[in-house]
Amino acid sequence: MQIAKPSDDDSVGVFSRIPVDSSEIEREAVIAMLERERRSLPSSLIAMALMALGVAMLPDVAFMAGLLALRLASFLFTRTAASMLERRVRARTPLKNSRRILILAMVLTGVTLALLLWPQPADSPLGAVRMIQLVVVVAVTLISVTLAALPRSVDAMLGSFWVTACALILFHPANGDLAMIGVVTLVLLGIRLYSSSAGLHMRSAAQILVENRQLSEDLADALAHAEFLSWRDPLTGLFNRRKLFEETRLDGSGLSRHLLTIDLDRFKAINDTYGHAVGDRVLIATADVIRDWCRALGEDGAHQCFRLGGEEFLVFARGFDDAEMIEAAEQLRGRIAELGQLFPDHPEIAISASIGLTCWRFGEGLDDALQRSDGACYEAKDHGRNRVRRAA
Ligand code: GH3
Ligand code: MG
Ligand code: MG
Repeated sequence: MQIAKPSDDDSVGVFSRIPVDSSEIEREAVIAMLERERRSLPSSLIAMALMALGVAMLPDVAFMAGLLALRLASFLFTRTAASMLERRVRARTPLKNSRRILILAMVLTGVTLALLLWPQPADSPLGAVRMIQLVVVVAVTLISVTLAALPRSVDAMLGSFWVTACALILFHPANGDLAMIGVVTLVLLGIRLYSSSAGLHMRSAAQILVENRQLSEDLADALAHAEFLSWRDPLTGLFNRRKLFEETRLDGSGLSRHLLTIDLDRFKAINDTYGHAVGDRVLIATADVIRDWCRALGEDGAHQCFRLGGEEFLVFARGFDDAEMIEAAEQLRGRIAELGQLFPDHPEIAISASIGLTCWRFGEGLDDALQRSDGACYEAKDHGRNRVRRAA
């Protein structure tokens, strides 16, 4: 994850308060900007209509209508570039090219808006000329604020506007008022400053949004982890006793149910002889065998295994009859009895388990069924250990 830092890219740089993905802030700022851009459509159409009205009152209508058509074309180009950028932002694909296209659209926007200030003959109606000038200034301001999250695009428009306006002032025969260049420059600087502060505002709003989203995700992760820990035995990763009661309470499958109590034989001796760490490794290896065996029994989640405590495990299996369950339990017992091979450094280690199984009848409480499978397990111990016994 990146720490947000002042960006040298097309963004307003601010320092992040907590570590967040700076590209996500960028993305949110661009999405907010594109939404504004879409909502600005009615005002753009009004501006276009006002300009058309002003142009219609000017003496050289044909020429000015041509300039207005250029403005309309650059407006449509900008909207296309903006929707292309929006598609890329939403698809999370790289934005570089669509940003460049938007910058080009903004250069054309600046040029076409400035061209509408084309000096008019002295006999032109002043009202129409002023109205066009006013609409142009308002349009430049609105576009600068709308695109504030992309300062390079704003600069592209303001820059091309300034160059075109200065060229009109300097080179048009009907003009030549150098003071106007100062006025245009100051107006554009004011608009740029206003746009910067709007950009900072948009970016901080985007940052808060991303930070909040990240906090929510962290919180959800922490909750999921806490839930995982509250249901799992930390040593083996199997479900714990608490989960057994939770899980079986919800069982409504209607399938036949069996409980298998699996207790390692003479485990205390393993601890005493080889040490607690080896004892732990035996518990983990036993849990792995039980888990794999459970999965091999079938359907994901239909059969579950638990560590009830110490060296005692339990399997809750569904959908088998007694004979099938006894056969499967014998298989499990055999696999546990082979676990000693995993400890070549202790070739004489003896690992085995006694297994008691019972059918858990419908309507019967879990405690009663548990007591019966425990009893069968004790019986297996009494008959010499490393064997399977079914409760009567
Ligand atoms: P039996 O065949 O009759 O079941 O004998 P056993 O030695 O397996 O049974 P006992 O109940 O006498 O001993 C269980 C031992 O399991 C005692 C305890 O120290 C050990 N134990 C319990 N929890 C853990 C654990 O998390 N890690 C390790 N290494 N040992 C544990
Ligand atoms: Mg034991
Ligand atoms: Mg025990």
